[in-house]
Amino acid sequence: MNINKNYLNLEDSYLFSTIAKKVSEFTNNHPEKKLIKMGIGDVTLPLAPVVVEAIKKAADEMGVQATFKGYGPEQGYGFLREAIQKYYSSKNVNLAADEIFISDGAKSDLGNILDLFDKDNTILIPDPVYPVYVDTNTMDGRKIIFADANEANGFLPMPDENINCDVIYICSPNNPTGAVYSKDALKKWVDYALKNDAIIIYDAAYECFIKSKDLPSSIYQIEGAKDCAIEFCSFSKTAGFTGTRCGYTVVPKTLIRQGASLNKFWLRRQTTKFNGVPYIVQRAAEAVFSTEGQKQIKENLMYYSENARIISETMDKKSIFYTGGKHSPYIWLKCPNNMKSWEFFDYLLNTAAVVGTPGAGFGKNGEGFFRLTSFGNRENTIEAMERFSNLF
Ligand code: PLP
Repeated sequence: MNINKNYLNLEDSYLFSTIAKKVSEFTNNHPEKKLIKMGIGDVTLPLAPVVVEAIKKAADEMGVQATFKGYGPEQGYGFLREAIQKYYSSKNVNLAADEIFISDGAKSDLGNILDLFDKDNTILIPDPVYPVYVDTNTMDGRKIIFADANEANGFLPMPDENINCDVIYICSPNNPTGAVYSKDALKKWVDYALKNDAIIIYDAAYECFIKSKDLPSSIYQIEGAKDCAIEFCSFSKTAGFTGTRCGYTVVPKTLIRQGASLNKFWLRRQTTKFNGVPYIVQRAAEAVFSTEGQKQIKENLMYYSENARIISETMDKKSIFYTGGKHSPYIWLKCPNNMKSWEFFDYLLNTAAVVGTPGAGFGKNGEGFFRLTSFGNRENTIEAMERFSNLF
């Protein structure tokens, strides 16, 4: 018996466990202080009322013989795929329903998609980055190279013609930097992928935070993308589904490599290894696209966006460099006084009782940067920024 030795190459993730340890030490030593957590990437507002109604209705259906559902289609029910198809039409993207696959969230499919690619491929990943891209490829033993995201390029690296790669990861709006690619910049990546016969893994988990029609909220708004990109999306941040679990993956039928259809590969992969998302959850996701659902989720998104604006305003006032905030729930700031990420974490915790996420935890280029999130409540966000302002 041989184990998958690639697992031995995974770097231990100490980021959130170290944060938890430091926070617990602080609260033990200072029980009188009110701690404000701005490090979490999880949402805090509850599900929209129409979503809850849909869950209850679907649960009732499951309890009645005539409407009970057993195994559903692995790739998702038609009603949800069609609702997503309409959502894309509203962004001027035409997809066939069978190019859309319902998932239990973007994270699973971002890992699962690698079943389609040979282990010999070279993978290009931006640094800093959502750690899942690096870890899932490391588990398979693929060669990873990094595209540097930094202050000089506004944390939006561009293709380098001298570098050859087969799979390219793009996350826009980005976690952790909040940076968003323009249509022109994304077109350069699409052209580069087409020229190199590469595939773009496009993570659109935060697309709902984009407020300008001039910015791309799907890679398929870029000409040529249907020939080189797979898009991953999620209801987690859009509609507070982090605990409910639903997302979708788009694999265009025009995505052909070495004569094989990746859409057919993915369908085969899903029907073999996945048995679908619960009917109740898919009805909940469908409700997100109803007129009332869109109105209700937008109220929540606006709440988070206002928090992000409050944080950004504080950075502006203090002339601190940052990316994100406007079209993203994340504010990625340069640590004041040239502090290192963990140094700043300790300083902010011990002097202001505010918790954020050290940028160094997202890759080497994250050193000296810090992530604050807008997923907390309004009062705490305002108070945290008042405390922050008093420090600098
Ligand atoms: N992609 C990015 C960039 C994320 O930040 C996250 C979650 O934080 C995910 C994907 C995972 O989303 P899901 O909850 O749909 O698995």
